[in-house]
Amino acid sequence: MLVMKFGGSSVESSSAIERVAGIVRTRAKQPIVVVVSAIGKTTNRLLDIAHEAVAGNRQGALVKLDDLRAHHFDIADHFGATDLIDGPFAELAELVRGLAVLGELTPRSLDAIAAYGERLSSVIVAKAMNAVHADARDYIVTDERHTQAAPLYAQTYARLKHLPPTPITVMGGFIGSTEAGVTSTLGRGGSDFTASIVGAGLHATEIQIWTDVDGMLTADPRVFPGGHRVKSISFAEAAELAYFGAKVLHPSTVLPAMDGGIPVLILNSRRPEVAGTRIVKDSVPCRNAVKSIACKTNITLVNITSTRMLMAHGFLRRIFEIFDRFETPVDMLATSEVSVSLTIDTSAHVPDIVKELESFAEVTVEAGQTIVCLVGENIRHTPGVASRVFAALEPINVRMISQGASLLNLSVVVAAADLPKAVESLHAEFFRELDPEVFES
Ligand code: ADP
Ligand code: ASP
Ligand code: MG
Repeated sequence: MLVMKFGGSSVESSSAIERVAGIVRTRAKQPIVVVVSAIGKTTNRLLDIAHEAVAGNRQGALVKLDDLRAHHFDIADHFGATDLIDGPFAELAELVRGLAVLGELTPRSLDAIAAYGERLSSVIVAKAMNAVHADARDYIVTDERHTQAAPLYAQTYARLKHLPPTPITVMGGFIGSTEAGVTSTLGRGGSDFTASIVGAGLHATEIQIWTDVDGMLTADPRVFPGGHRVKSISFAEAAELAYFGAKVLHPSTVLPAMDGGIPVLILNSRRPEVAGTRIVKDSVPCRNAVKSIACKTNITLVNITSTRMLMAHGFLRRIFEIFDRFETPVDMLATSEVSVSLTIDTSAHVPDIVKELESFAEVTVEAGQTIVCLVGENIRHTPGVASRVFAALEPINVRMISQGASLLNLSVVVAAADLPKAVESLHAEFFRELDPEVFES
């Protein structure tokens, strides 16, 4: 049993879908579950339509929905699948009209709208492959945290046992339903996570994540295009990279696969001959200290100082209670006796958080920061990594540094304007020579 997941750009057009069908056919000696994302940028477009509708621009929203419909009909027509998407688009138009009347967008209705992306792509791709379609919402059971739902593994694995035993089954990623049967989603980029859940539930031999790059690269190609392919990497390293911004993998993806001991491969649907990246359980011996550099943008730095709390216990507890109450995760942290600096990657509750912190501390907030994160299991065994980082970043103002928390990362915070230079310099320093067993230049 093989799970093959294809991302949005891999199914963005009829020719892309034909290419995908060809790739699946070459693997079809064993049963395959194909997990697909929404076509191209459909999820963004659906969310945009929903926001436009609730903002009172009903006509504008319906025009945009017509565009999306035309795009899907073009592709579906190529595979004789237009009758399969007529109904869903009629429902979508109803939903958009309803949102315009209500003028309110709840997380639950956001999920209802966003889910159409994968509902549509999966029926089209199933038809294109002459395969059986399975509605992911009948199998992936989640909690009720709409837009960020977590899978309920026991129920999900029990239901996956009833997946039709066909040679090729196609289902949408990203979507599921609550125990009460309400449509939910696993968070943006969640189709990777679906693939891993399905793979673990069905004891797949391998989970393949097909995307638009040759695999995990030594740097985010949108920030630094000169990276190299990482041939293999451990689950722990991949999880850390995903958490610190490597969008190529949803951060939760490795968990189910790791529990099931199932290797995950990242592959390029436009260059299927490239071996990609293999993510495996055991650590991968490597002569380089660093495997890859990830970065997380739009980070907010919060500096909290309290002279009144000098040497007082309970200072950190009070701070964290506030962040916890506003469900705001803290990524990096540095403390001194009377001050704490920390980073968060959502600014949604910053004004409320600051207001509460100001009852016992002075607070400054700096938006527009980025975390640059070096990941590699060798970082902890290699002397001098920190000094090489500082030397490489010599002209750049490093706002914060953290090493040791996870044993396999070293992270620095720099201003957004310094990001390209920082990544370029660090890449030059740590990937000047490459271990040919691990990297392909
Ligand atoms: P998909 O739609 O297939 O899920 P995504 O856009 O979610 O594709 O993820 C692939 C993208 O991840 C790449 O196009 C690349 O820009 C980005 N990316 C960020 N960091 C990395 C990295 N270290 N290696 C490879 N790709 C990365
Ligand atoms: N379509 C969803 C998104 O754009 C899920 C995914 O592509 O993985 O976030
Ligand atoms: Mg993705």
